[in-house]
Amino acid sequence: MPAYVSISQLSKRYGAVEAVHGLSLQIERGEVFGLLGPNGAGKTTTIECLVGLRDPDQGEIFIGGHDLRRQPAAAKAKIGVALQSPSLPGRITPREALRLFGTFYPEAVAPETLLARFNLTVQADRRLEDLSGGQRQRVSLALAFVNQPELVVLDEPSAGLDPQARRDICDQIAHLKAAGHTVLLSTHDLAEAEQWCDRIAIVHQGRVVATGTPRDLVAQARTRQSVTLVTARPPEAAWLARLAGSEAVALDGKTARWETTDAAATIAGISAMLAEHSLGLVELQVRPASLEAVFLQLTALPAPAEARNP
Ligand code: ADP
Ligand code: MG
Repeated sequence: MPAYVSISQLSKRYGAVEAVHGLSLQIERGEVFGLLGPNGAGKTTTIECLVGLRDPDQGEIFIGGHDLRRQPAAAKAKIGVALQSPSLPGRITPREALRLFGTFYPEAVAPETLLARFNLTVQADRRLEDLSGGQRQRVSLALAFVNQPELVVLDEPSAGLDPQARRDICDQIAHLKAAGHTVLLSTHDLAEAEQWCDRIAIVHQGRVVATGTPRDLVAQARTRQSVTLVTARPPEAAWLARLAGSEAVALDGKTARWETTDAAATIAGISAMLAEHSLGLVELQVRPASLEAVFLQLTALPAPAEARNP
């Protein structure tokens, strides 16, 4: 089965800025997929190309088997989108906005149904400018559902929201998944990506630098674990540098810190070194990488020429 959403080699520049640079990703039907990356990584540009708001310079996009360039109407009919900065007039009410959006589609969901579904019945006839950030975000979400989309696209759905409103969004995403929707969301928040998404693409400088489940991504980084060793007598840097799997040892007196690609071999080596030189063990810690460490590692470096997919 081909992926439900397929983006291949997408590129988009704004003048001298290469916002998206050969970005590829595949999303399966029913998946909650996260684009995770720092500000300026190219998430919004990717989303705007995917929903047909921007024309890519290069690349192909297929949604539900439809080529966005050749069959734009069929591809877009499947998408509902809540943008990062929706431009709705402040004086419009949720009910009016839902009615207005409904006129764009041949078969729109009734405003009352969406107001009830997104807990907006009480606020239905208040102006948007008088609603809280969380309530406005729920209006954006409700608007994304007017055309009964298969694919729901949410650009930074939790940006600027308080914890309660974030939990609301979290519940909504869980409902979407349970109802069989495919969800693409972007975030710069790691904890959210880990909590909400089945799979994540880490985006850096307009490219996907890693893709996988949160667990896969962490496991990938577990190939590098961090080691802290404290001894009773200071070791020599050369002894540490010879330990199997060890990289870039930082030694400060009796405390050494470094990363290893093979923790088991490193520990065996440490054990032999302690015995050989009678160093005396005070402390030994081996810590797994966190998703945060993976993210920092991947987004701190210049993007690699080729995207890496585990
Ligand atoms: P993200 O959503 O990950 O923060 P964006 O897609 O918004 O990233 O931006 C990617 C890059 O493109 C950034 O360097 C940003 O400054 C630039 N950019 C975004 N939109 C425009 C625009 N309309 N004109 C010029 N540059 C833009
Ligand atoms: Mg953005």
